[in-house]
Amino acid sequence: MSEFRNENAPIIVEADGFHLIDAHGQQYLDGHSSLWCNIHGHRVPAIDQAIRSQLDRVAHSTLLGLSNGPSIELADELVRITPDGLQKVFYADCGAAGVEVALKMAYQFYQQRANKRQIRDKFLHFDGAYHGDTIGTMSIGSIGRFKDLYNPLLFPVVWTSLPNASPDNLDLEHQQLEYWSSELEKLLELHHETLAGVVIEPLVQAAAGIKVEASGFLKRARELTRRFDTLLIADEIAVGFGRTGTLFACEQEEVAPDILILSKGLTGGYLPLSATLVTDEIYEAFLGDPWLGRTFYHGHTYTGNPLACAAALASIRLIDENQVLKNVKQLEELLQRELAPLKSHANVKEIRQKGIMVGIELALEDNPFPAELRIGHQVTLECRRRGVVLRNIADVIVLMPAPAIPEHLVMQLCEVVRESIFEVMQAAKRKL
Ligand SMILES: *Cc1c(COP(=O)(O)O)cnc(C)c1O
Repeated sequence: MSEFRNENAPIIVEADGFHLIDAHGQQYLDGHSSLWCNIHGHRVPAIDQAIRSQLDRVAHSTLLGLSNGPSIELADELVRITPDGLQKVFYADCGAAGVEVALKMAYQFYQQRANKRQIRDKFLHFDGAYHGDTIGTMSIGSIGRFKDLYNPLLFPVVWTSLPNASPDNLDLEHQQLEYWSSELEKLLELHHETLAGVVIEPLVQAAAGIKVEASGFLKRARELTRRFDTLLIADEIAVGFGRTGTLFACEQEEVAPDILILSKGLTGGYLPLSATLVTDEIYEAFLGDPWLGRTFYHGHTYTGNPLACAAALASIRLIDENQVLKNVKQLEELLQRELAPLKSHANVKEIRQKGIMVGIELALEDNPFPAELRIGHQVTLECRRRGVVLRNIADVIVLMPAPAIPEHLVMQLCEVVRESIFEVMQAAKRKL
C-alpha cells in the first residue's frame, strides 16, 4: 500500500479504442484488456448505443419477484452459445459472487435431489486455483498470498494438483496427465460421498500466472466426476469469451460441465455482471411447494441489471459479427512469433501461452528473483513509461490483449514488453 501511494499511478479519465488516456492526456495501450475483461475495446459504438437505448427505457428493476427484458434475452443467448445441457441461468454482479452461487447451489442440490438426498459439505479444488476474494471463493482458492491470512475463517476442502502442459516434452505431459488423473480418481473414490463438486478453471489457471493445463485433463475430470456422481463446476470467468481460442474453453475438450460460471468478458468489459449456468437436473431439485423450503435464497440487489444485460447482448453479437474468434487465431500466432526472441533470454524461465493469454516467467538461473527487487513490477512500470499498461503476477508478466484488438497493436505490445524486459534485466544485473 505504501509503494502504491508513492507511485503516482495514472488516473484514467478517458479511452479511445484499445487505448486508455490519463488525466495528463498520456495515452496507454490497454495490454491486459482492463484486467482481462475487455473484448472489443473501449467506447464501442454498438455497445454504447445498446446501453443508451436501455437507459431510455429503464436502468434497473429487480429480478426478485419480477423480471426484465434484457435479462431474459441474455439468458436465452447464453443457453444457446454455451456447451449442451446448461439450460438455466442465475445472475449476480461479479465473478466471485457467481462462484459463491455455484457453491451454494451444489451444496443444496445434493440435499434436495429426488433420488438420493445427501449432505455433501466438501469441494475439491486444484493447486494454483483462483476463484475470487470472498470467504467462500478463498476457501477453494490456493494462492497463499491472497488467502493465508484468512485461513481460520475458511471452510475445509479437498485439494490436489493438476498436470501442466509441457509443449516441448509431450511424453512428460502425458505422464503427468496420467499421474494426476489417477490422483484425482483416488481422491474421488475416497471422498465422493461428501463431495458436492470439483471446481476447475478449464485449460488455464490465469491468476496462478497463466498456468496452461495438460491437454486432456479437463476431459478426464469430466469423466471422473460423472463416474463418481459429483458435480463438475467450471469457472470460465477468465478463459471465457474467446481468450483461449474458442468461445468457451470447455469446447476444446468437448466438455459440458454441470455448472458454468461466466463474468469478466460477459459484458465486453463494460459493466459488472456474472452468470451461473446449470443443468435442468440441478434446477429441478429446487422446485416444489413453498412450504418445502427448496427455494434458492440468494439474491443480489442488482442481479440481472438491464444495462449490464444489454451490454452483454451487444458484445456477444459483435463477437459473431466481427469474427472475433478468427482474429484470436491470428493474434495467437502473432504473439508466439513476436515473443519468441525472448525465449533465449537468460532470465526468461518460461513463456506460457494458450490462445491470447500469455505469461512470461522471469527468473535468475531458474531460481526466483529476490522478492524485494519486485522484478515483475519493475517490468510493468517500464512498460508504462513506454505507453503500455500491464499487470504482473509476482515475476510473471501477463499479456492479455483484448480478443478484438488489431494485429499492429499486438506487435507494438510485444515490442514494448521485449524492450522493457531487456531494460529491467540490464538494470538488475548491475544491482546483483
Ligand atoms: C477474476 C476471476 C474471478 C473473480 O471475479 P471478480 O469479478 O473479480 O470477483 C474468479 N475466477 C477467475 C478464474 C477469475 O479470473
